[in-house]
Amino acid sequence: MSNIPGSDISSILHGGYHHPTSRLWQSERQLTKAALMYPIFITDDPEAEEEIKSLPGQKRWGLNKLVPFLEPLYKKGLASVILFGVPLAPEAKDPYGTSADDPNGPVMQAITLLKKHFPNLFIACDVCLCEYTSHGHCGILHEDGTINNPPSVKRIAEVACNYAKQGADCVAPSDMMDGRIKAIKTALIEAGVAHKCMLISYSAKFATCLYGPFRDAAGSAPAFGDRKRYQLPPAGRGLARRAITRDLAEGADCIMVKPATAYLDIIRDAKEIAPDVPISAYQVSGEFAMIHAAAKAGVFDLRRAAEESLDGILRAGANMILTYFTPDFLDWLSE
Ligand SMILES: [Zn+2]
Repeated sequence: MSNIPGSDISSILHGGYHHPTSRLWQSERQLTKAALMYPIFITDDPEAEEEIKSLPGQKRWGLNKLVPFLEPLYKKGLASVILFGVPLAPEAKDPYGTSADDPNGPVMQAITLLKKHFPNLFIACDVCLCEYTSHGHCGILHEDGTINNPPSVKRIAEVACNYAKQGADCVAPSDMMDGRIKAIKTALIEAGVAHKCMLISYSAKFATCLYGPFRDAAGSAPAFGDRKRYQLPPAGRGLARRAITRDLAEGADCIMVKPATAYLDIIRDAKEIAPDVPISAYQVSGEFAMIHAAAKAGVFDLRRAAEESLDGILRAGANMILTYFTPDFLDWLSE
């Protein structure tokens, strides 16, 4: 150790990040276009292009509007989308979610359409019943209104399998029913499509207040009660870890944590529990709306806040991020 004051070499960190390029090297994972998955709402009116007030800039799309909307994004490097069906016709809903995999329904049709127009686009399908059930819950119910798990899992596996057979590259069950990952994986194997369909488990999906704008977008608010009996309690770190471990054992190819920003410790847990599979994080509607609202109120710059939020999610351990900011990042990452 030299006796010149201030010459302790271990104290000098600035030299390593004085330049924009060396600052980039300080990140374990850098954001790339391929790390972004864009959530898309597809409704049953083929001509629909409906603004979703609570989700700035996002719309519900009809089948006839989908390709023109995605074309420019695909040219900018859009790598993957996740499809959410939003049937608005009242006859599209019943207690069993029958219309979820209707061959003429919006999701099944969209898979075929997008595969044809964008052959390299990775197409994931959210799998759940709540958009299609008259009661708005994610499974099939007992008479007392609680979830009847076995028939729910059977139905969810059937829907997932039909999406895969239609050509989806990925199915992502968000229902949180016990045992659905094993049931879906088994169904995919039996249908001969397990080799060409990724199974992402929403393992750590929390009962958050941040889903509000999504329910607006998807028309999927439950008619009674809430989803707290099957989504995880926000403080339930142990439950999340158990769900991640269980879903890996049941055949999940990728683990999802949802929401992202308030659950960065869970993303890190997921990366540590499952270092050998990709970890995805869903920056949910409320997180997106909150950043927009704060930027509008002058709290911060929208782009910087969006970038920082994704940096945090990547730093926590995510390999890919589902975000409504995807179109913005396709532009920002092109600069
Ligand atoms: Zn659901």
